[in-house]
Amino acid sequence: MQKKRIAFHTLGCKLNFSETSTISRQFGMEDFEIVDFEQEADVYVVHTCSVTATAEHKCKTSIKQAHKRNPGAKVAVIGCAAQANPVMFLRMEGVTWVLGNEDKFRLEELVKKQEHSGLFPEENDDSGGLTGNHADSIREVSDISKTRQFIPSYSMNDRTRSFFKVQDGCDYFCTFCSIPYMRGRSRSESVENTLQVAREIAATDIKEIILTGVNIGDFGRQNGERFMDLLIRLDQLEGIDRIRISSIEPELLADEIIELVSKSGKLLPHFHIPLQAGTDKVLGLMKRKYKREVFANRVASIKSLMPQACIAADVIVGFPGETAEDFEEACTFIESLDITYLHVFSYSERPGTRALQFEGKVDEKEKRRRSQGLHEISEKKKQAFYESQLGKSFNVLWESDHVNGFMHGWTENYIHVRTPFNPEFINQVIPVKLMSVTRVKELICDVML
Ligand code: SF4
Repeated sequence: MQKKRIAFHTLGCKLNFSETSTISRQFGMEDFEIVDFEQEADVYVVHTCSVTATAEHKCKTSIKQAHKRNPGAKVAVIGCAAQANPVMFLRMEGVTWVLGNEDKFRLEELVKKQEHSGLFPEENDDSGGLTGNHADSIREVSDISKTRQFIPSYSMNDRTRSFFKVQDGCDYFCTFCSIPYMRGRSRSESVENTLQVAREIAATDIKEIILTGVNIGDFGRQNGERFMDLLIRLDQLEGIDRIRISSIEPELLADEIIELVSKSGKLLPHFHIPLQAGTDKVLGLMKRKYKREVFANRVASIKSLMPQACIAADVIVGFPGETAEDFEEACTFIESLDITYLHVFSYSERPGTRALQFEGKVDEKEKRRRSQGLHEISEKKKQAFYESQLGKSFNVLWESDHVNGFMHGWTENYIHVRTPFNPEFINQVIPVKLMSVTRVKELICDVML
């Protein structure tokens, strides 16, 4: 039997990317050939995101593109947007499977089942198969609020770094966020089982792991364990040179974690801490679990032990009730923080969230103005940080890209660097000295080896 071609397209967060990678590996090489999403395939898988209305729109566009590329292909729509709005996707041309966040890990089983039942069009069959006929469409969207299933996942797409999902779901229910409704309650595997998967990654060529989750600091709570316990064990893991902690809630970033990172040669001095709002008033409306002083305190603790650490912060602008004065106060607070850069998001209404009922809506033009203001603060901070690191030595993990004669990599503290392309550097950790800062679309440092 001829191999079926399957193509994956992932939207959204690092979690989605790690899960797509795991799901694609389930298909194996025997019956399936993985092809690029831009190529003609028999099955297209769109791993969706619903974090904003724009993200959902992009999912629909990708599905339409897949169907246009090969009207005879079958499309699987999986993940958060599928969980939120299955009927809408089932109605789209070409869509055969709509699988929620628990059910998506059964994709391989469901595709193979359909293949064996003869519902795939054979070569030279110009009937277009059953596409457009929804009689054979499958919708599997379990009640995610009940799921306790946790499937560890990791990406292998770029051979240098792997996004390793160690936790899923969230119990916080911040008033703007629909993630707990899409991904369910907080859950993770035991430290021991998580380490087993980490050892699988360590057995590959991957040099760097990025620990990801929805609320990663909550890792282990259901098993009476702590995220710190996992970090201590991972710090001793043979076969992996570098480990980054992705986004962690400020009140869960305990001093002991900061201390461990400061003493470790493996856990990198790079923190991503969601601030979300720069006034206590808006933090309260958002039902965040900390006041802004806690955030400032976390930044100060990190910087006192690791002055060279990179700290990124997420901020939402235009949350209902955030006045122009609140925004000004937030800007002053953010400017006072010794952080490196910001991820700025414009507030987007999400179905089912409490903020939908809030008064004081901010119009789109004003949201754009605020977003622009924070982007400017972020750029200034990043430039100042990069310049403060010039002349210092770091270790860079070089990636395989080759753009205009250069290759790129990242220092321990997440400075983006480049050097003339040399294939021998790919996936190697090499000491460098930062020489100058330049701008090629974004800030980048040239280095001396
Ligand atoms: S902590 Fe808040 S913002 Fe983050 S995933 Fe949970 S509910 Fe959403």
